[in-house]
Amino acid sequence: MVQEAIRVFARLKPLGRRQQAGIYSVDDDEKSLSSLEIIVPHDLAHGFINNKRESYEFKFQKIFDQEAKQDVIFDNIAKPVAERVLAGYNGTIFAYGQTGSGKTFTITGGAEHYNDRGIIPRTLSYIFDQLQKDSSKVYTTHVSYLEIYNECGYDLLDPKHEASRLEDLPKVTILEDSDQNIHLKNLSLHQATSEEEALNLLFLGDTNRMIAETPMNQASTRSHCIFTIHISSKEPGSATLQRSKLHLVDLAGSERIAKTGLGGHLLTEAKYINLSLHYLEQVIIALAEKNRSHIPYRNSMMTSVLRDSLGGNCMTTMIATLSIDKRNIDESISTCRFAQRVALIKNEAVLNEEVDPRLIIIQLKKEIQELKDELALLTGKQRTSELSQEEELQLDESIEVFLKGSDPDSSLDVGADMRKIKYCFIRLKQLLNDSKVSDKKLLLQHISEEKDTTESEDELKNLKELLQQRNNEINILVNMIRKEKKKARDALFQLNGTSADSTVLEQSHSLNLDESRSPSSCSSLKEAKDFRSSFHRLSLLCRKTGGKMSLGCQEAFEVFKQDHADSITIEDHKQLLKQRFAEAKCLGEKLNEVRNTINHLKGAITQRHIQRAALAVSSPSEELNTLDPVEEKLRRQIEEEKQSYKTMFNRLKGLKIEIEHLQLLMEKAKMKLQKNFEVWWSEEATNLQEKPEMVNSSNTTTGYPQFIKSSQHLSTNSFSETRRVNPNEDLAGKSNPITPSNPTSKIRTPSTSSVPLTGDSQADADILAFIKARQNILQKKGLGNK
Ligand code: ADP
Ligand code: MG
Repeated sequence: MVQEAIRVFARLKPLGRRQQAGIYSVDDDEKSLSSLEIIVPHDLAHGFINNKRESYEFKFQKIFDQEAKQDVIFDNIAKPVAERVLAGYNGTIFAYGQTGSGKTFTITGGAEHYNDRGIIPRTLSYIFDQLQKDSSKVYTTHVSYLEIYNECGYDLLDPKHEASRLEDLPKVTILEDSDQNIHLKNLSLHQATSEEEALNLLFLGDTNRMIAETPMNQASTRSHCIFTIHISSKEPGSATLQRSKLHLVDLAGSERIAKTGLGGHLLTEAKYINLSLHYLEQVIIALAEKNRSHIPYRNSMMTSVLRDSLGGNCMTTMIATLSIDKRNIDESISTCRFAQRVALIKNEAVLNEEVDPRLIIIQLKKEIQELKDELALLTGKQRTSELSQEEELQLDESIEVFLKGSDPDSSLDVGADMRKIKYCFIRLKQLLNDSKVSDKKLLLQHISEEKDTTESEDELKNLKELLQQRNNEINILVNMIRKEKKKARDALFQLNGTSADSTVLEQSHSLNLDESRSPSSCSSLKEAKDFRSSFHRLSLLCRKTGGKMSLGCQEAFEVFKQDHADSITIEDHKQLLKQRFAEAKCLGEKLNEVRNTINHLKGAITQRHIQRAALAVSSPSEELNTLDPVEEKLRRQIEEEKQSYKTMFNRLKGLKIEIEHLQLLMEKAKMKLQKNFEVWWSEEATNLQEKPEMVNSSNTTTGYPQFIKSSQHLSTNSFSETRRVNPNEDLAGKSNPITPSNPTSKIRTPSTSSVPLTGDSQADADILAFIKARQNILQKKGLGNK
């Protein structure tokens, strides 16, 4: 049990534009109570000279001056109460003050800013946050919202009623049980599993309150609103339940009938407009008086409902809201006086624990069973009655635990009851049979899986075989090409004679010149035939593979493209493309970022709308109809982001076009290069084909210069604009061992048999072109020059 006085705080509302502050001072002492001094000038009472004291001092737990923000109010006033409620104690926070002094602002919140949300939403947020953090207990949360107007209670959360008038809402009445506990009939309790759900309920209640209000009944100033959070908690397995409630109360305006007393009696206590506040005061006076046995709670509905909060089992806090402008000084003093009385009341908060009878029953049943077992064991008496369904279920559970347990020493303990022992044996037999059946199923499944595996193994075998086959084919082809290369080399030397004591010569098999010259040379002829056929096969293969180049051809192409201007262009494009891709990637990432920012800002605006709508419901104000500066700012930010998105998007679009363009250009350059090579390659072949006599003639000096010339001509002519001219080119050409200009070269007349022409013009051209390509390659590799 915790005994403590009601804690009383004061909050001063900021002055309006046309308001003039009364004279007051706040002495905010951190250690002890704070004091508020209000000075009333002599001339206040219509200029009468009177001897009334002019200074009033009031003590409060803490005084929050005009600039105090909602979060500070929550932290100082509501949070400690919420903490106690979570611990299982009841709590009440009520705001008391004249109309317009900021009760609703403090309890529910202001309509303009998110930061203005009041004690109820902040407390809900705090409570749900705490509940989420605590996994040691199971919590249930409900809320209710009651409005008391003219001694009648109304349920603000009834979903069935569309309240167009307060009277349309379900009427809540008070019932008192024999223990004098108060029950509210017709007040609905709504479970809220999250902060969001609870807030929705708060807004629903505020909407109903607003709709039901008419200027005539002025419900919001003349009624009391009690928003209650009910929390129940239980530790798992425990039979003890904790129940607590937190009342957040927005009282009716405390203004009195007359502000000043008759005959200049300044600040005479006038009668409350609201009768229930009058009774509230009576209760408080009674509570403050020592030895009062009767407290008149029952005089009004409001005091009945708040009975526990006043002098009962509750941690109660009062917030005196004060409007400190000149004209309201007397009301403020009344409020402070009331607060001083309230501060005298002592409450006794007890932990609200109760035992859940259902849980007790379960515990007792278990105990009975244990005792029965023990008895049966001691007396050895066998029972013949059937096992109950519950007992069977329990045994099933024990068997399951026994079977699943990993401890080899564990035992299935069912006591000395033979019925149970028999039951266990039967169950175990059943389970054993079941598991046999499932084992069979598993086996069948396993067999079918194995079958599947065999099938896939077969497939794998087939694929492996296919792979081997392909490998063989490739090996054959590679061997063929090697052979062909070798033969080409041989043929080349036969063409050149032995004059070139080059590395090629060294590398090649030594050639018997006589043999090579002799038309009757079988080996040479045979080789030539082989070469011819293999080359022919190769070119055929080349054609068959969709125009793909043979290896020799590819080699020639590699060399061909090295110095070709198109390949430089391609390389440049490649570099530029790389750069552009990187730029595009970077831009894409930035665009995503901007898009996310825009979405985020849009979300913030939606959030803003929801808040403002909610605030419009809870405390409507003119300003809510005006433009929201925060939203305006968010919109401006969105516009800016959109602008930069647009710019970046356009740049990306441009880049995309540029990239596509570059890719096309590159493709084009590649094709041109290939085409040039093909033209050169086929021209070479045609040249040779047209002048076979040059090749076949006894004087290669006429044939070869042409051959070389043609090649040079092609090189300089076809690519004259693009090719970078090598000043050594001519020299290189002249130093070619097969050129007649080389004085050192031993010019030989290749016999017809040494140039393995087939008579098939295409194949012969191919052969000669190939030989030429080889020569060029060797030359470029520095082999041919030696
Ligand atoms: P009450 O509920 O006591 O009649 P309200 O809470 O409705 O008074 O407050 C009246 C007006 O003053 C509202 O427009 C409210 O937004 C404003 N107001 C009250 N207290 C504050 C405060 N502390 N800061 C800013 N505005 C306030
Ligand atoms: Mg109000």
